[in-house]
Amino acid sequence: MNIQWVCNDCGRSYDPKDLLWRCCCGGLLNVESFPISFPLKKIQSREASLWRYSEALPFQNTSFIKDITMGEGFTPIVPLDRDAPHLLVKLDFMMPTLSFKDRGAAVLIAKAKELGVTRVIADSSGNAGTAIAAYGGRLGITCDIYVPEQTSPKKIQQIHAYGATVHTIPGDREETAKAAVQAVEQQHIFYASHVYNPFFYQGTKTYVYELWEQLKGDLPDTLVLPVGNGTLLLGVYYGCQDLMEAGLISKFPRLIGVQAERCAPLATAYRLGKARTVTIAQQQTLAEGIAIANPPRHRQILAAVRETNGMFVTASEQKIKQAHLALAERGFYVEPTAAATYAGYLQYQKHFKHNQLNSNENERVVIPLCGAGLKAG
Ligand SMILES: *Cc1c(COP(=O)(O)O)cnc(C)c1O
Ligand SMILES: [Zn+2]
Repeated sequence: MNIQWVCNDCGRSYDPKDLLWRCCCGGLLNVESFPISFPLKKIQSREASLWRYSEALPFQNTSFIKDITMGEGFTPIVPLDRDAPHLLVKLDFMMPTLSFKDRGAAVLIAKAKELGVTRVIADSSGNAGTAIAAYGGRLGITCDIYVPEQTSPKKIQQIHAYGATVHTIPGDREETAKAAVQAVEQQHIFYASHVYNPFFYQGTKTYVYELWEQLKGDLPDTLVLPVGNGTLLLGVYYGCQDLMEAGLISKFPRLIGVQAERCAPLATAYRLGKARTVTIAQQQTLAEGIAIANPPRHRQILAAVRETNGMFVTASEQKIKQAHLALAERGFYVEPTAAATYAGYLQYQKHFKHNQLNSNENERVVIPLCGAGLKAG
C-alpha cells in the first residue's frame, strides 16, 4: 500500500519516500486516510500485541512483523484501587523499552524499513529516542538520536546501548529539534520524528483499540492523558475516529490533557479560549517527558480536546511528587512524568467538586502509566 502524506494546511500530498518532514508551505503532514477494518474473530485469535490490529495499520504485507516485534502493546489494564473499580490504569510502562513510545516507534520503524530506509534521525527528550533506537537497531537501521544535554543519563545510556549514535545538544528541547532538522535537511535523511512523522501516530492509535477490546467492546467515559507533543493524545483521537467509522463506538470519550504547571502552553491556550498556543514562560519540571514549550501540533491537540468536550489540567511539582509516592504505595513505580498524569486526574476530580458540576459517580476513567520509574534520574 503506497500510502501518501497530506499537508494539514494546504492539502498537497507527498510520497513518504520524498524524505520531506513537512510541506513546502510549512504545514504539518498527516497520513492520508486508507481503508481499514477490524475483523474481530481474526484479531482475537492473534498474539497479544499491537500487531493484532494489522488490518488497521498502514501496511500491505505483514510478513515482516515477526522480524520487528518484541511483543509491544496489549498492556495490562487494572483498577488502581480495589475500592474504586471505575478508575483504571493501563500499564504502558510495561513495554520493551519501558515507555508507551514503543507503539509509535515500532510502527514508524517498520514503515521506514518497508520504504527501504537504511538510516534515520530522531530527536527527543529521552523516551522516543530510546524506542526509535531499539527498533532501528533491531531492523539494522542506523540511528542518530539527538537529545538535550540535561536528559536523564539512564535514557542516554539506553539509547547508546541499542547501538545508536547519541548527539547531546546544549540548550533546551527546541535547540535539539533544530539540530536534528538541520542534519535531516543537510544529509537528506529520513526523519523518524515522533512529532512530525505521521506514521508514529499510526502506532499510538493502537492504545485505544486495545482499550476497546479490553473493556469488552466499549471505551471509558474519560481518558486522562499526559500531553507534551501530544503523540499519545492525538493517536488516541485518531484511534477513536477509526472505531467510530467502523461502527464500534457511538461516542468519543472525553479527552483530558495533563501538563506540568511549569510548562503548560496548551493548558494556557485552552484556558484563554485560544485555538493555538501563545508564548509561555517555561521552568524546569520533574515531568521532563511533557516539558514541551512549543508543541508543533498544538492546533490539532487543542481541537481534539475541545471536540471531545474535554479540558486541560495542570500538575504542580509538589502534586507530581505526591502522586509519584501515591502510585508507588499501590505498587506502581513510574517515572515522574507518568506520575504527573495521576496528579492531573486528581486535579480534574477537584475541578468537578469545586464547580459543583454533576460529576458522574460512575464515570469510568482510564489513566495511562506511560514510563517506568527506573528510567528517571
Ligand atoms: C513522551 C512521553 C509523554 C508525553 O507524550 P507526548 O507525545 O509528548 O505528549 C508522557 N509520558 C512519558 C513517560 C513519555 O515518554
Ligand atoms: Zn501545505
